[in-house]
Amino acid sequence: MLHPRELRERTRYYSQYRDIRRMGQIVFDNHYARLPERFYSPQDPVPVREPGSIRLNLPLAEDLGIDTQWLASEAGTAMLAGNYLPEGAEPIATAYAGHQFGGFNPQLGDGRAVLLGEIRARNGRRFDLQLKGSGPTPYSRGGDGRSPLGPVLREYILCEAMHRLDVPTTRALAAVTSGERVMRESVLPGAVLARVASSHIRIGTFQYFAARKDTEALHLLTDHVIARHYPELEDSENRIAALLGAVVARQAQLIAKWQMLGFIHGVMNTDNVLISGETIDYGPCAFMDEFNPEQVYSSIDHGGRYAYRNQPGIAHWNLSCLANSLIPILHNDQEQAIALAQSALDSFPDLFLEANSLGAARKLGLQAIEAGDVPLVDDLWRLMAEQRLDFTLTFRRLADLADETNRTGTVAELFEFPDALQPWLDRWRERAAREPTSAVDRQSAMYAANPVFIPRNHLVEAAIAAATDNNDFAIFHQLADLLENPTSYAPELRHFASPPRPEEIVQQTFCGT
Ligand code: AMP
Ligand code: MG
Repeated sequence: MLHPRELRERTRYYSQYRDIRRMGQIVFDNHYARLPERFYSPQDPVPVREPGSIRLNLPLAEDLGIDTQWLASEAGTAMLAGNYLPEGAEPIATAYAGHQFGGFNPQLGDGRAVLLGEIRARNGRRFDLQLKGSGPTPYSRGGDGRSPLGPVLREYILCEAMHRLDVPTTRALAAVTSGERVMRESVLPGAVLARVASSHIRIGTFQYFAARKDTEALHLLTDHVIARHYPELEDSENRIAALLGAVVARQAQLIAKWQMLGFIHGVMNTDNVLISGETIDYGPCAFMDEFNPEQVYSSIDHGGRYAYRNQPGIAHWNLSCLANSLIPILHNDQEQAIALAQSALDSFPDLFLEANSLGAARKLGLQAIEAGDVPLVDDLWRLMAEQRLDFTLTFRRLADLADETNRTGTVAELFEFPDALQPWLDRWRERAAREPTSAVDRQSAMYAANPVFIPRNHLVEAAIAAATDNNDFAIFHQLADLLENPTSYAPELRHFASPPRPEEIVQQTFCGT
């Protein structure tokens, strides 16, 4: 609880920005707040002691039509920390439910985040602006509603890297320090992340209303989602079945992208699956170093439920939760509703395999994986696992080999294929030579498809440790800068492309609470 004197001080902080209220720095166009109040609770962010800017994502701010000079000002920082509400903001904490590690929780909701409102971007699309770590809400269930600095930096780095790697994702507009301490296993500096997403509507949002048998809300939510994310489905014969099918398709695409990067989400609970098909919730997630299909990083995932190789299956399972929630409104006849749900769900395996196969083809410099290529691809995954090859450098080195006359900018000093891979490499060379493309073109396509920089766990941990322990953000900024161009290599950046030394390997990451 805040001491009344402290509260007064903070209120003063608030009012000091009153003059710039009329500057119109952000153009809000809120739709979710127009839904009935059982969808959310009005909730202002709780001001922090002393906002301090860590990093601003100016290109994103520009895309959103936000005045970047203003955003970089003291008032902008105050807004990003939740200390100043811009004109037009209608802060709410949204309600949702979710299956967490398989167990259903009918009442989750934003416990440490508020949605300030929706911004109409320059391209005409609407985006949520949410503050994460903004203080308690009615959904906090005893949590403090705050976030330590570490998870904020992790999410900033990871989501922006994913964006540059062409993976649909929520974005980071800014990270700010709060000037407060948060209590976890130890006392840690606090921070707030300003998150931008196409929307924060989750499978768990549908589950919330399905669990309450609130079909009216399910209809309203469906209308909202179709208008916002799937307008092309508006005239479908059965809009709800079409929506389910479209969400299934986007998840299939998304998970295939994760698999092709060795990305492990870590908490694929249904409250962490966005209907828009964007990746959300960068808690205990990580990119793999050595390829291991069984890899899990999350310290709370004891059974390996969310291991790398389980991700497609879990996505399918999560989609079945969405299908279940929609059954009451899919069709008047329940049997037909179930049949529609089943048929949408049944499309997932093929859609995933198709996306995965296309992804693998791009990584291998092929136009497509033909029937005869399947053993080639399967053998590569098997050999990578047996030999514990570095996921990222395996493909990057392969790109080097696509044109062996070109020796500039290779990662040969960081990675060389072991002898056990030579027969496979010969098979791949033979197959690649049958492609209609030239070696030069194949190589540039492969360099584009195979990043050399990923946010390696040990580097992310080093960035967090320096910031948390020494208030030193240099590594964080270096990493964030570098990951803006994840596919272009220069040897002086080798440190950031290298796998961890044995003593640097991070075995576990922690839930971002
Ligand atoms: P997550 O692990 O991020 O998917 O969060 C699961 C649920 O716990 C959500 O309802 C969060 O809002 C809530 N939660 C997580 N951390 C906190 C916190 N520090 N204070 C309050 N609620 C939290
Ligand atoms: Mg979550």
